[in-house]
Amino acid sequence: VLRIDNVVKRFGDNVVLDHISFDVNKHEVVALLGPSGSGKSTLMKCVNMLERVNDGQIWLGETDITDPRINQDECRKRIGVVFQQFNLFPHMTVLNNVTLAARKVFKWSRADAEEKAMALLKRIGMDQKAREYPDRLSGGQQQRVAICRALMGDPELLLLDEVTSALDPMLVGEVLEMVSELKDQGATILMATHEMSFAHKAADRIVLLRRGKVAENGTPADVMDKATDPETRAFFHSYN
Ligand code: ATP
Ligand code: MG
Repeated sequence: VLRIDNVVKRFGDNVVLDHISFDVNKHEVVALLGPSGSGKSTLMKCVNMLERVNDGQIWLGETDITDPRINQDECRKRIGVVFQQFNLFPHMTVLNNVTLAARKVFKWSRADAEEKAMALLKRIGMDQKAREYPDRLSGGQQQRVAICRALMGDPELLLLDEVTSALDPMLVGEVLEMVSELKDQGATILMATHEMSFAHKAADRIVLLRRGKVAENGTPADVMDKATDPETRAFFHSYN
């Protein structure tokens, strides 16, 4: 579904992504790990075309999304994105938040968008909250609504950038639970996270970034339990 091929991204002299390559295969959950500042969000933004790469290619299916000639809006429709915070518009109801992009970007009718939105909200037990405003919801509920919005167009790929790190610890579990359910339903997910036990349990693969490079790429067991590299071991150790 996604192929990151030798991607280089610099901010001035700061080489944030230094020839990064890895794939995310269909139905795979890949956890993107690394110390703060290692370039996880930058890579996510390159995949979402919010940042341009300096070199290399990013393939979404058969499309090279780093090719300046492609239609970025068309490619963005194929990707669902949720960030750490500020995902919902406070002045709009849950239902309008979830349906807005579908109506404006995909040009769905209100009825079609609302039907799909209600089905998604019902799946997470939030259909009763459709007419509420975001500030009446817990942070965990807000993030789950944001994930529903990202799912509206049945994206080929879901990008989740630290979707739980702004949450009260009590609320982290329900959001991670939703990610697990999406995985069980066959979603393809690239997820930057600091939730190590979740990555261990739910990810098919771990990609660990360090100093702009892919330091590790393997199963959770191989990367997290059996790593031999001392820096990798120290990194996981710091979370215990
Ligand atoms: P965290 O775990 O804290 O979210 P991260 O791995 O997501 O960290 P990034 O946000 O991708 O890290 O940042 C990587 C590096 O790129 C940092 O050194 C940061 O200062 C730099 N950086 C990110 N965005 C910009 C920008 N727009 N302009 C200049 N430098 C930037
Ligand atoms: Mg980040």
